[in-house]
Amino acid sequence: MITARPVSILRDNYAWLLEEEAGGARAVVDPAEADPVAEAIDAAGGRLDLILLTHHHADHTGGTDALRARYGARVAGAAFDRERLPALDLPLADGDTVPFGGAEGRVIATPGHTLGHLCYHFPAGTLLLSGDTLFSLGCGRLFEGTAEQMFASLRRLAALPADTQVCCGHEYTEANARFALIEEPDNAALRAYAAEVAALRARGLPSVPSRLATELAANPFLRVADAAAFAARRARKDRF
Ligand code: ZN
Ligand code: FE
Repeated sequence: MITARPVSILRDNYAWLLEEEAGGARAVVDPAEADPVAEAIDAAGGRLDLILLTHHHADHTGGTDALRARYGARVAGAAFDRERLPALDLPLADGDTVPFGGAEGRVIATPGHTLGHLCYHFPAGTLLLSGDTLFSLGCGRLFEGTAEQMFASLRRLAALPADTQVCCGHEYTEANARFALIEEPDNAALRAYAAEVAALRARGLPSVPSRLATELAANPFLRVADAAAFAARRARKDRF
């Protein structure tokens, strides 16, 4: 069994702490800042085995070298982006597996936000670390890839088990809800979820992880028929 919890960093980023209960292994995903992540690691027992990077942007990688030096953790990320990521101990590509304690993560290449973006699926925790590909009620901007690539990437994530917990890289859910409600004002699942999120955020709590089933019912970027419809919706969001 693997559990995940968010650590708030920078303005609205999350690093995710993963713990494998049986062996006590610990990993962190996208540690953009070292200090708040080290604080959480030390409070939990002071061990870090693995650093997983979803993509090369500084708001996901910034604390990597400091944490590697402090804990001796191995760093895993996309071989494709080897030149613009921190030094990789485990260069990864689509379909690879990452050993983590007695469990493993599956690597899903999701080009779109960046060309080398990876997501990590841990079946043992029904966890998806979705980086800046899939947000709750949203998806990443197309900085490098095409709408066709992002649409195909989201399709692959949407095919994971519906009870998968989606652990994304940013707390964008409330802002995403405002756009989603314009796109689908009559979506009852969306309206109910948006109200839940507003209540969590009013109490200062993270809105994530969300359930993939919720995203399938409410996220407008998973609710498009084809790449052209996706591209049009993404363009409207960019102007929103
Ligand atoms: Zn990014
Ligand atoms: Fe980001």
